[in-house]
Parts: sequence; structure tokens; C-alpha cells
Amino acid sequence: MAHVEYYQAKSILSKASGFINSYDYTLNPYGGCAFACAYCYAAFFAPNTALQDTWGQWVQVKENALDLLRKRRKRPLIDKTIYMSSVTDPYQPVEKRLEITRALLYELLDYHQVRLVVQTRSPLVTRDIDLLRQFPRARVHMTVTTDDDEVRKAFEPLCPSNTQRLWAARTLADADIPTSITLTPLLPVRDAAGFARALRDTRAQKFVVQDFHPTTRRFAAGTGQQALTAAERWNWDSARYEAVKALLRAALPNFYEGKEGFAPAW
Ligand code: SF4
Repeated sequence: MAHVEYYQAKSILSKASGFINSYDYTLNPYGGCAFACAYCYAAFFAPNTALQDTWGQWVQVKENALDLLRKRRKRPLIDKTIYMSSVTDPYQPVEKRLEITRALLYELLDYHQVRLVVQTRSPLVTRDIDLLRQFPRARVHMTVTTDDDEVRKAFEPLCPSNTQRLWAARTLADADIPTSITLTPLLPVRDAAGFARALRDTRAQKFVVQDFHPTTRRFAAGTGQQALTAAERWNWDSARYEAVKALLRAALPNFYEGKEGFAPAW
């Protein structure tokens, strides 16, 4: 279980850049991430090498997150796009008890007019359907990476199961919350045709696939090597990725690859 610590953050909204530069702001209620994915790119943005090396073992709670957002009441966010979150998952296990993300959603609803994308792999997001459905424009990106829970355990040992994530996507779609499934990165798939059927059955409107980062940098430190080893164990290479991608593309509507699929759209 990840170590949880509390601190006073300096800011809660950051200018979006890089892969998600089509958004105005990123909003990260937490630092670190208890889900500990072996391939996590966010680990490279940890404040120092000690925290990079122990990525997945710690979560920093921005205990003043709501106070920081309240300071924006004087300058409301009007028609701004917000990506929550870029370097953590806003539905950390501890969020169930602390409800920091939920409080931020309330604040955004009551005092701002934003277009919101929530990026998560946690079924806890369904707790906040009552709030998400009040946003004129909110979308949930649910990350689902494989159909094989053995693969999931190798790459994402502390994440919710595939079944839970598919259930969450279906629950969101059934509640009329615009929902995308982000297959990012796509991990080894056992039965591509069956996976496509399961994804389609969620009734998500949009699907986004992405391979591992093409450079070796993502495997350059810490848990990255764990992902490289696991990929080799499953003989997961670019040819297999392309083959599964082609099958999914043929079976699923509104299918995108990479950055284009992350652009804000409702
Ligand atoms: S859930 Fe996202 S931020 Fe957390 S470890 Fe996995 S990839 Fe990184």
C-alpha cells in the first residue's frame, strides 16, 4: 500500500503543455500515484530521483487543493478546457475517504464554466456521476489496456481489474456521461476479437489507442525496466501492436491513435 502524506501545494492549476497542449489547464489533486503502473510516464515528472525511483509507493495529498481553487473565484474560468489529471489519477484509493476530487468538481460546477476531461482507471469515478452529469461539457477517459488480467497484473499490479474498468465505462455511458476508452498504452491482448466486443459493449463513444513510447527513454529508469521485461515476456512488439490495433480499428467506432484522440471534444 502506498505511503500517504499531506502537504500544502503552491498551485492547483497548471498550464497544459506537451502531449495535452490542446487543453488550457491540467488539474492534479494529488502527487504521485498508488496505481504504480510499470510503464508510467508521469514518474519522470516526480520532484526528484528518489521519488522517481519509488514511484507507485507514495501519494502526496494536496490538502489545500480546494482552497487554491477557491482563490480562482475572483477570476472564473470561462470556457476553459481542463484535463484532470496529467501526472496522477484523480481517483486514488485515498480519494474514497478524502473526497478532494469530488470537492473540486463541486467548486468547478458552482463557480466556473469549464470543459472538463477526467482521465482515470478507477471505478471510483462512478461515485461522482451525480456531479459529472451537471457539467454542460464533461467527458471521462477510462483507461483499459488489455483483456488479460494476468497481463494487467504484470504491468499494473495495483490497478483495478479489467472487469471493474469495463463496468465503470458502461456505467458512465449508461448515465449519459460522454465516455472514451483510452487503450494507452495497449498491452498484450489475449483475444483481440473478444476484447473488441467487450469494449464495444461498454457503449463508450470513442476509443484511443497508443503504443509504448517509441524512444527508449520511457524504459530508462526505475519501474520502466519492469515494463520492458514484461513486454518481452509476452512477445509484445510493434508488429503485434499493429495487428491488434488494426482489428480494433475495424471493430470500433470513432477510433483514434495517440495525441489526436486526447484532444478536448464533447
Ligand atoms: S494510473 Fe496513471 S499516473 Fe498512476 S501510475 Fe498508472 S499511468 Fe501513472
